[in-house]
Amino acid sequence: MSTYVQDFADGSMAQKDLLGGKGANLAEMTRLGLPVPPGFTITTDACRYYLRTGKVPTDLRVEVTQAIRRLEDTMNRRLGDFHEPLLVSVRSGAKFSMPGMMETVLNIGLNDASVQGLAEQAGDERFAWDSYRRLVQMFGKTVLGIEGDVFAEELDAAKAAAGAASDTDLDADALRALTVRFKEIVREQTGRDFPQHPREQLDLAIVAVLESWNTERARLYRRRERIPHDIGTAVNVCTMVFGNLGDRSGTGVAFTRDPATGQPGDYGDYLRNAQGEDVVAGIRNTLPLAALEEVDPDVYNELRGVMRRLEMHYRDLCDVEFTVEEGKLWMLQTRVGKRTAPAAFRIAAELEAEHLITLDEALMRVSGDQLSQLMFPQFDRKAAAKATLLTRAMAASPGAAVGRCVFDSQTAHDWAERGEDVILVRRETNPDDLQGMIAAVGVLTARGGKTSHAAVVARGMGLTCVVGAEALDVDPAARRMTVDTASGVVEVVEGDVVAIDGATGEVFLGAVPVVPSPVTTYLTDGVDAALADAGEGDAAESLQALVLAVDRLLRHADEARRLRVKANADTGEDAHRARALGAEGIGLARTEHMFLGERRVLVERIILARDDAERDAALAELLPLQRQDFTELLQEMDGLTSTIRLIDPPLHEFLPDLTELSVRVALAEERGESSPEHSHDLEVLAAVRRMHEANPMLGLRGVRLGLVVPGLFGLQIRAVCEAWADLRAKGKDPRPEIMVPLVASVMELHLVRDVATAIMAEVSAERGAACEIPVGVMIELPRAALTAERIAEAADFFSFGTNDLTQTTWGFSRDDVEGAFFAQYTANGVLTVSPFESLDLRGVGRLVDIAVTDARAVKPDLPIGVCGEHGGDPESIHFFHSVGLDYVSCSPFRVPVARLEAGRAAISAVGHSDSR
Ligand code: PEP
Ligand code: MG
Repeated sequence: MSTYVQDFADGSMAQKDLLGGKGANLAEMTRLGLPVPPGFTITTDACRYYLRTGKVPTDLRVEVTQAIRRLEDTMNRRLGDFHEPLLVSVRSGAKFSMPGMMETVLNIGLNDASVQGLAEQAGDERFAWDSYRRLVQMFGKTVLGIEGDVFAEELDAAKAAAGAASDTDLDADALRALTVRFKEIVREQTGRDFPQHPREQLDLAIVAVLESWNTERARLYRRRERIPHDIGTAVNVCTMVFGNLGDRSGTGVAFTRDPATGQPGDYGDYLRNAQGEDVVAGIRNTLPLAALEEVDPDVYNELRGVMRRLEMHYRDLCDVEFTVEEGKLWMLQTRVGKRTAPAAFRIAAELEAEHLITLDEALMRVSGDQLSQLMFPQFDRKAAAKATLLTRAMAASPGAAVGRCVFDSQTAHDWAERGEDVILVRRETNPDDLQGMIAAVGVLTARGGKTSHAAVVARGMGLTCVVGAEALDVDPAARRMTVDTASGVVEVVEGDVVAIDGATGEVFLGAVPVVPSPVTTYLTDGVDAALADAGEGDAAESLQALVLAVDRLLRHADEARRLRVKANADTGEDAHRARALGAEGIGLARTEHMFLGERRVLVERIILARDDAERDAALAELLPLQRQDFTELLQEMDGLTSTIRLIDPPLHEFLPDLTELSVRVALAEERGESSPEHSHDLEVLAAVRRMHEANPMLGLRGVRLGLVVPGLFGLQIRAVCEAWADLRAKGKDPRPEIMVPLVASVMELHLVRDVATAIMAEVSAERGAACEIPVGVMIELPRAALTAERIAEAADFFSFGTNDLTQTTWGFSRDDVEGAFFAQYTANGVLTVSPFESLDLRGVGRLVDIAVTDARAVKPDLPIGVCGEHGGDPESIHFFHSVGLDYVSCSPFRVPVARLEAGRAAISAVGHSDSR
């Protein structure tokens, strides 16, 4: 059976893979009996065939003919008919929404003859010519590849000639003349006439949609959103309904809840006497949905009923596109709508409170990435009150962004490349602005509503955005804007700093300082403090609702998760912060910073020691300092485990730089100097040369260093034991663990263990308390992972060092490659994401899996965790849950994110299916 074409009436929302999101949801609405114009979907199978072969499948032509005939019979109209022509739209629609990335062509079926038929049928000549000129314009741009501006300029010229303020003011004659001109443009630019045969129009439009899957901007969007390149798009062919049939007609976009804040209540934009993309393109400023109630209360009520039905059916925020044709409502699209991070939390928690979804489902609808967005700082309200307010417009996507103004995408990209924070300012954005939006820290537009392209795309990207700032007169050519403010006209030129508040819609001249968000206050100081902090008024209410939503979902995540969450913290201060954010211990305390600063001299003395006595003396001086470091850490984590890792980096990192020192020595020699400083420099230089390594990351570091430099690990182990004994003596509950880095062979671990056991026995005897501190190992080399069974015998715990494990599995130098060529590797598709950021499951993940399985085969209760950067990465956390780790450890700031994701991982692992 062919699966190239399916009527809307035959599908359902379960078929997103085959019908794309739009097609599946149109089918679902049809099934629900909602007013959807009849149509059919060309499936993603057809697109994949086209992507593979560069041709449309031969069966497709026949199936389209059959589907069109069914449509003609249903509508009792014929494509291209002189009297009652059937017109169709052709729209893309992939499985995942890609707003504005691919193409749409409306009014297919119009030609020089059927335009007369349409005029007769509608009794409206102006309307018929408006529809025809739109077809030639859209078809010319999308299908024939003519620069869109050529048509736009001609439209502007026609408006100017007729003294019309808007396209709706052009009469039938003007539109007829414009259509003629547009057709001339087609001939001039392509050397062929605008195709008159409706079937040819349809076939070409279908191919154009298939082609648009692979445009530069669509590929860029998919890379960013991690959407696979090979799934292809579906194509929806739908009977046209007309929002441009006069003032009782119009088109709109609406949401069942506010997608920016999550506030309950219908929300949307409406444009009278308009068609299709006019609303999202932001070419005319839209009316709020409530205005529809005044224009046509029956349609408004019907629409509200449909939206309520959809929200109940999908059990989530839905967005819809609709058209009103002379007082009749038509639904053109619905989907579970994109939303900002605050809206995601609020909607999930409130739908649960309304008993429309379960708490597990609510948790599955938010993500760690969204939580981390909520932790971003916000503008300090007191400072904002004193700042120069340029204007207040629509808050489209939250955040507090400060940056230099740029007025085009290319400049945004170029300036961001050189490290500048930029705010992209446009009249309105279109899909070609994607590159600039990715580069910017915020987007500000003069036109368009909350559903304009800028708003929708920014929300999807978590990018701060303010839209519809009509007070701004933006002049991209002159690279400036002027603003009429209460205190006179202000000019802002490229490079000037502005601050935009995506939660309030305010735009300020100059920078505004930021303060912690109420969600961060909640995470560190609890619910009451955050509620009090939110202040008063409408904005406060919404912040309070958000804090309560985060609290509800995070508490549920804590109850649901199996993975414990610890923090990577090296100082008492970090440990304190981590604990406040919910860390259940320290999973990695790196001890190398304890050898820096003033202590460098001691390290130098250890390295330069001529005999054991000199080295022991230097080590003895370090001992009390290290003990103090560990005491502070253990005190902060009282009652929870603290995993202290023995020193890891190569010792030369603690010595002066080879080049600098060589220059100093050479200069001194030239001057014939013979001071004690010079002799010392000479000695150090010899040591630096001796210790120089071509690949220090693969050289004398980690356990290798501990085994080669006598007494070094011993000093650290003793400091841990003594700190433990001191705190115990004070009635505390210190729980240190000792972790050995970069082990490749079990023998290395045995040797360190022997030293540790001896020191613990000594401290036990000295202090009269049984000092038994667990000694574990980092699994961060492939050989360690592959011999985990042996290593487990000598280890009290494992912790995966996935930074080094990624480095050594891929052979990527972690200090070099990301800056050197990852951009290219991402562009050409070798990587979709840096393996240092999100665990490479196939390669590095496989090693983790092998090590866990083999180690647990000999020690079923061996505690196993991870302390590489991946411990705080959402996708990686799901993997660590699935292979049975006991904990993840990440930077303090990521702890709440990890708690949330660990909860989600536990829920999705027991077979919960996300309804989106
Ligand atoms: C690791 O390699 O993953 C790790 C945590 O250790 P470091 O980053 O200090 O090498
Ligand atoms: Mg490491």
